Amino acid sequence: MIDYPIPVLGFAAYSGTGKTTLLEALLPKLTQSGLRVGMLKHAHHNFDVDKPGKDSYRLRKAGASQMLIASRNRFALMTETPEQEAEFSYLLSRFDAQHLDLILVEGCKNIAFPKIELHRQAVGKPWLYPNDGNIIAIASDCDTIESALPQLNINDLDAISGFVTEFANQSTKALNTPSCDTLSPAYLSVEQGLEAILETISSPSQSEECQLHELDLRVLKAPIVSPINVPAHNNSAMDGYAIRGDDLGRDQYKVVGEVLAGHVFDRALNAGEAVKIMTGAPTPKNADTVIMREQSTQNGDIVTFSQQNLRAGQNVRLAGEDLKVQQRVFDTGKRLRSPEIGMIASLGLTQCSVFPRLRVGVFSTGDEVQAPGQPLKDGAIYDSNRYVLISRLQRMGCLVDDLGILEDSHPCMVSALSEAATQCDIIITSGGVSVGDADFVKSALESLGEINFWRINMRPGRPLAFGHIQGKPFFGLPGNPVAVMVSFLTFVEPAIRKMQGESDWQPLKTVAFATEDLRSRQGRTEFSRGYFEFLPDGRVSVRTTGAQGSGMLRSMSEANCLIEIAPHIDCVKVGECVTIIPLQGRI
Ligand code: AMP
Ligand code: MG
Repeated sequence: MIDYPIPVLGFAAYSGTGKTTLLEALLPKLTQSGLRVGMLKHAHHNFDVDKPGKDSYRLRKAGASQMLIASRNRFALMTETPEQEAEFSYLLSRFDAQHLDLILVEGCKNIAFPKIELHRQAVGKPWLYPNDGNIIAIASDCDTIESALPQLNINDLDAISGFVTEFANQSTKALNTPSCDTLSPAYLSVEQGLEAILETISSPSQSEECQLHELDLRVLKAPIVSPINVPAHNNSAMDGYAIRGDDLGRDQYKVVGEVLAGHVFDRALNAGEAVKIMTGAPTPKNADTVIMREQSTQNGDIVTFSQQNLRAGQNVRLAGEDLKVQQRVFDTGKRLRSPEIGMIASLGLTQCSVFPRLRVGVFSTGDEVQAPGQPLKDGAIYDSNRYVLISRLQRMGCLVDDLGILEDSHPCMVSALSEAATQCDIIITSGGVSVGDADFVKSALESLGEINFWRINMRPGRPLAFGHIQGKPFFGLPGNPVAVMVSFLTFVEPAIRKMQGESDWQPLKTVAFATEDLRSRQGRTEFSRGYFEFLPDGRVSVRTTGAQGSGMLRSMSEANCLIEIAPHIDCVKVGECVTIIPLQGRI
C-alpha cells in the first residue's frame, strides 16, 4: 500500500462513465462537510494546462524545465518530464498534505490504493472489481449485484459523499494508530526486514595489519593519510623536449641533454635550451613545459617545433597532483579494490590496517537434499544452495566454513548449529523455514536463541528466519535456489557488508522501461530476474528472463538485473518504467 500521511481514494471507471462530472458534483458536498480535498487527475500524455502565447508557456518552451507561476490567488508548478512519467508516490509528494484531509484521484488505474469503481450500464463495459483487489466499493446504476463490496447508487450523491467522508475519517484514524499488521514481527516489508536486521548487527572493532598482496576486498579499519606527494616530482607526461615556459616562441632551441624515466638532469635549464625527455622522467629545474616529439624536429643538437600555439606548463604532471602529502586518501570503512590497492602502493606503503575477515558457516537443510557426486536417490534433489552461497561469500571476501547438509533431527541440528556459532561470525542455512516445513527445524532454532520467523512481503523469498545463536547472527534462508539468491542479495549482503565494516554501501538501482507486461501483487515487492540493454537511442529497456519459478536458477543465470516492483504497484505495462537492480559483480 502507498505510504502517505493522509487518506488517498481513487475513482476507477471506463471513460464515458462520467467520473469528472460526478467528482464535480461531489466536491461541494465534501467541502461542506469540512474536508479539505486535493485532486490528482491522470491525463493523456500530451495534455497541457498552459496556452500557447502565455508568458509561462513561452518560458517553458524556451527551456525552463520547471515553471512556477504565482499570483495573489494561486500558484501552479509545471514540471517537464520528458524522460519518464513521474511516479505516483512522487506526484502525491507534491501536495501540501498538511493543508489537506483527503486526496481524490481520477485515473491511475494500475496503481494499488483504495478506489471506488463507477459503473454505468449504458457504457457497456465489464466490471473492474473482480480483478482488482483495490476496489473498496461500487457505485453503479445496476440493481444489486453479487459482491461483498459496499454498493452505492451512482446517482445518489449524498450516499457517495457520505461514504467518502466516512472513508476519510476512518483512514485518518487508522493512519494515526499504529496497526498491528505493520508492526507484527511475523509480517514485514522488505525495508522493515532489512532495517530490523541491520539494527541488530554491529560493525567490527578488531583490526589486523594486512600486506598489499592480501588487500583485495578487505575493508579499511584506519584512514590512510598520504606520507608523500604523488607523483613525488614534476615529470613529463609525453616523450618530447622540455623547455622553460617563459622561453616559448623561439625558432629553435639547443638540445643540452637527455633525461630518461628514473634519471635526473642535474642542472637548471637556461633560456634557449631544451632537454630531450621521456614520459615519466622528472622535468629539469626551470623546465615546466614539454613539447611532444611528434611536433619536434631535431638536427644535430638543434630542435625546432612545428606547433605554433604552445602553452606554458603543457604536458607536465605536477608533484602532488594525484595525492598531496598529508592528504586524507581513504576513510575507515572503505572497501579496497584494484584502484585503492594501487593507490596505497603508490604511496609507498606495504601494508595497512583492515578489519578481520568474516568467517561464515554455511549449511543446507532438508532430508531430500543430497550432496552432488553420487547417483540421485529416490525423491532427492542435489544440493545447489550451499555452492551458490559459498561462491557468493568468497567473492565478498569472507572465509567460508562449508558445514554440509544438516540432518533432519533435533539433537543433530542443535549441536551442529551451536558448534558453528562458536567458530563462525555468522551462520547461514537454507531451507526449512517456510510454513509447511518439518517442525523440528524451527524448534531446534527456537531452542538455540532468539530467532524470528518472518514472512517478508516479497517474492521470491517470503520466509526468512533471522536472529542470533550465542550472539552470532543467523540467517535461515528459504529453500528454493532463486529465493536463496534474492534473499541473500536483499538481506544477507547488506548485513555482511556492515559486519565487514564497510560504510555507506547501497545497492545500485536505476530505471528501465519494460518491453513486456509485468505482473505483481499489491502489498509485496516483486523481484523478477531481468535482462536490461541499451537501445541505439540511448534508452534502457528491460525484459524478464522467461519462466520465473523460484526453483529455476537458469532465470538467474540469464539475468543481468533484478526487476523490482514496489508493493504499491499492481502491474507494469509495456513502455512503463520500472526499477532495476543491476547484478554485475553481485551474483
Ligand atoms: P523448503 O523451504 O525447505 O520447503 O524448501 C523449498 C524448496 O527448496 C524445496 O523444493 C526444496 O527441495 C528446495 N531446496 C531446499 N534446500 C535446497 C538446496 N540446498 N538446494 C536446492 N534446493 C533446495
Ligand atoms: Mg525443506
